[in-house]
Amino acid sequence: MRYFSLHHYSPKIGFREAVIQGLAPDKGLYFPEIIAPLDSDFFDSIETLSDYQIAFEAIRQFVGDEIPEHELKNIINETLSFDFPIIEIEKDVYSLELFHGPTMAFKDVGARFMARCLGYFNRERTHARNTVLVATSGDTGGAVASGFLGVPGVDVVILYPNGKVSDIQERQLTTLGQNITALRVDGVFDDCQDMVKQAFLDKDLQHLNLTSANSINIARWLPQMFYFFFAYKQLKKSRKPMVVSCPSGNFGNICAGILAKKLGLPISRFVAATNANDTVPRFLENWKYEPKASVQTLSNAMDVGNPSNFIRIRELYGDDKATFEKEFSSYAFSDAETRQAMKSVYGNSGYVLEPHGAVAYLGLKKELEKHPESIGVLLETAHPVKFIDVVEDVLDFTPQIPDQISSIIDKQKVFSNISSYEELKTLLLNKK
Ligand SMILES: *Cc1c(COP(=O)(O)O)cnc(C)c1O
Repeated sequence: MRYFSLHHYSPKIGFREAVIQGLAPDKGLYFPEIIAPLDSDFFDSIETLSDYQIAFEAIRQFVGDEIPEHELKNIINETLSFDFPIIEIEKDVYSLELFHGPTMAFKDVGARFMARCLGYFNRERTHARNTVLVATSGDTGGAVASGFLGVPGVDVVILYPNGKVSDIQERQLTTLGQNITALRVDGVFDDCQDMVKQAFLDKDLQHLNLTSANSINIARWLPQMFYFFFAYKQLKKSRKPMVVSCPSGNFGNICAGILAKKLGLPISRFVAATNANDTVPRFLENWKYEPKASVQTLSNAMDVGNPSNFIRIRELYGDDKATFEKEFSSYAFSDAETRQAMKSVYGNSGYVLEPHGAVAYLGLKKELEKHPESIGVLLETAHPVKFIDVVEDVLDFTPQIPDQISSIIDKQKVFSNISSYEELKTLLLNKK
């Protein structure tokens, strides 16, 4: 399998190179050259297959022969070492819970898969040691830290804005040690992101083989397809058309779902639900892509003004309005609506949605009004405990603290403070 850059000025490369580079040299996102649908037999018997088997079939063509079959199976088995239950919260409305991994957010799957792929390439010594450099506004940092912990040949440096991530999120990225370094930045998320971008362009740092671990990296993006297969496997017996609603920020998750459909997965419609950061809903209305500076909301993992993966969705739909409209909707919701949805679902069913799941719920309900013959799935991307302040405030209820979280609550935070790019650079040059 080869990948091309969506800017079309870089050479085509294989899976390994694309994972190591992250972004193409022309700054475009990598995209698979061929997407071959799976056999109909696979979908006919999907309910008899394990999650591991399904994941392997879904991703094998994208990895090609660059990781041997038995190694790829190992990577998948280690990546998916937790459950993905689907819970009916109303008639024909289901929540697919993607938060049972080590950091309790859906980014665990992508981070674990990418870390293990890089670990494999290092084991084979097919490239030099590298440094994963990421800026995080919350969930990415924890998932990347946990996913990459102890992976041979990979150093991880995480930048996060002082005072802008929750206490739990900060602990998840500052208490691990080993190959994980946390840097607390005097500034906001955009300052962290700017420093990371500057480092990628800095010739003095080239020998560190910097790579990113955001969903622009194909090894973080592609495994998110699995969720959509798992949902279908569990709901196939209903025999109704399936609508899936994703709470969307950088649009990596929903983009993976659309790719799954290209492989033949029978999903009838996708809903990209957003908060006030409504660049995509506005695009669908007037067909003009006009990114805006992000605004802060309750569902802060989706506070993105210029979603990085949307370009991949445009590619998948041939940038054609009619093709988009056939299966894709996108709606924006306010914080007030999000709170109201959390309350009404909790009141009616006792089910606790955190703010991202609540936005997805709102999008799903809106779509099901137009397609009442369908069954609906929302992706619940984080455990309520990760947004405990909002959940307690809105629902007047304290979720039980799961083991993954209680085990880090008393651990010492270890980080360095930085306030400028020069300090970041000095730190990177003096590492090890
Ligand atoms: C990252 C994140 C999202 C958004 O996912 P994208 O793939 O960027 O659209 C939604 N919910 C939570 C909890 C997240 O951490």
